[in-house]
Amino acid sequence: MIKLKGIPASNGIASGPAYIFHHTEVGVKRETISDPSAELARLEIARNTARDQLKALKKKTETEASAEEAAIFEAHMMFLDDPSLLEIVADAVQTQHLNVEAAWFDGIETFAQQMEMMGDEYLSARAADIRDVGKRVLRILGGKDDTDLSGLAAPSIILAQDLTPSDTARLDKRYVLGFATAEGGPTSHTAILAKALGLPAVVGCGSALLEISAGTEILIHGSQGELVASPDEATKKRYEQLTGEASRVAELELKSSGDHAITKDGRQVEIVANVGSPNDAVSALKYGAEGIGLLRTEFLYLERATAPSEEEQLEAYNAVLNVMGERPVVVRTLDVGGDKQLDYLDLGKEANPFLGWRAIRMCLDRPDFFKTQLRALLRASPGHDLRIMFPMIATLDEVRRSKALLAEARQEVLAAGHPVADKIQVGIMVEIPAAAQMADLFAKEVDFFSVGTNDLTQYTMAAERTSEKMAYLADPCHPAVVRQIKRVIEEGHKAGIWIGVCGEMAGDPEAAPILLGLGLDEFSLAAPGIPHLKAVLREWSYRDAQKIAAEIINLENGQAVREHVRNHKP
Ligand code: PEP
Ligand code: MG
Repeated sequence: MIKLKGIPASNGIASGPAYIFHHTEVGVKRETISDPSAELARLEIARNTARDQLKALKKKTETEASAEEAAIFEAHMMFLDDPSLLEIVADAVQTQHLNVEAAWFDGIETFAQQMEMMGDEYLSARAADIRDVGKRVLRILGGKDDTDLSGLAAPSIILAQDLTPSDTARLDKRYVLGFATAEGGPTSHTAILAKALGLPAVVGCGSALLEISAGTEILIHGSQGELVASPDEATKKRYEQLTGEASRVAELELKSSGDHAITKDGRQVEIVANVGSPNDAVSALKYGAEGIGLLRTEFLYLERATAPSEEEQLEAYNAVLNVMGERPVVVRTLDVGGDKQLDYLDLGKEANPFLGWRAIRMCLDRPDFFKTQLRALLRASPGHDLRIMFPMIATLDEVRRSKALLAEARQEVLAAGHPVADKIQVGIMVEIPAAAQMADLFAKEVDFFSVGTNDLTQYTMAAERTSEKMAYLADPCHPAVVRQIKRVIEEGHKAGIWIGVCGEMAGDPEAAPILLGLGLDEFSLAAPGIPHLKAVLREWSYRDAQKIAAEIINLENGQAVREHVRNHKP
């Protein structure tokens, strides 16, 4: 039996066989070869295998997503057979006696760079596709596994060094019982996705995780951050008991999740969901969400070769709004960069992507690209309570410029003859300390604030949110973070606007009384956590929560804050 301690990322208990997910690195050695035709024959075989893999991927994508998304693999197949690419490669093998791996790599790079140099977004995106095909062939030549998870054919627990948001999106959800990663922090987007899917997850387990072999029996306890491999009988029994108790409590909480969250002394707070796709919106209602407090629109932009059109976006927003009817839906405009990269946008390499050209910063630099999203949102607004939120706001000028582009987009939509709702609330994410400090001025510009505690904690503590080594610093309950939230709520209320929290803190039961006591109006969290959060809030009185919030503000660190809350549970 091996027991590993990691960082809790998503609650719940899971058991099942291990599936090892690894990114395959393809290093290319340069060698001189003596038999060019044998070398080219190896390439022929590898290309045939690649073609088979791409056909299978295309079919899978057609059934699980759409024909449109599957078309990308058709394009990959065309690159695979491109006559001029094959000519360059054959020439290098025959005349320079270069091994086929190096010749193929050079050919792919020449092609990709030519596309990039044309300075066109569409062609730059093609360059990424060419490299993708190139790597596929190199992996096959090197006899290495693909990372497309096609081997995942039975319910399993995924063990990985780390999972990027796009890896996670590509997993076949029917077969994923939970995740555990060697790296990663509690608010990485992978952890967020696990929460949204209601899958138990533990991150930051350390490199020992990668020594576990495929098929080993695994137990994970999400909220404890525990992973057990090859458990003994006693441990299995303990987990079975825990699972039984947890599911009984969860069942009771789910039964009352349709009721409001009202404290013992009558204060009602709004409980809404964080969603990342139209499907999430459907399950949000089942868990008792009273609306959507954060629609992360990145789902429309990730995992594809070109940006989504206005019509395509309109369809997706309509899908979410139709599910939610007249309930409030806060849509956050695109937030890419940081740990979410888009090949077709050519965001460039940055030394510190989390401090870089991310979210609103990139959107304001590309007004036409940004306005496509704004127009789609405005067109989706009639008959709904759609609210628009700008992410990563640091300055007043950014808010004003965003609002000006929204006004321009409104004129364009009206001029094209489409109706737009009269009143659309506009808000900002408060997730950069500069915005928290200046909350009094920002409050005059917007209808609401939503505090993004994931980034606010990362930037306040200077602790990258994806790093397991920094996880000890990344606690939103640290008074350095809580003091800023307090200020944001006070200044917002003075100006008469409402304030929500949409970072992971909103779904943390230990943080709940603090946020309640500070006077928060809205909690937005991954939907599967809603029934439990409502149950926790109903146990508190607003008066006691206010007292707790006032007491913890002068404590030294996050641990002391959490201990204080635990010791004063009602
Ligand atoms: C946050 O930063 O708290 C937030 C909700 O946004 P994201 O996690 O998508 O960066
Ligand atoms: Mg954020």
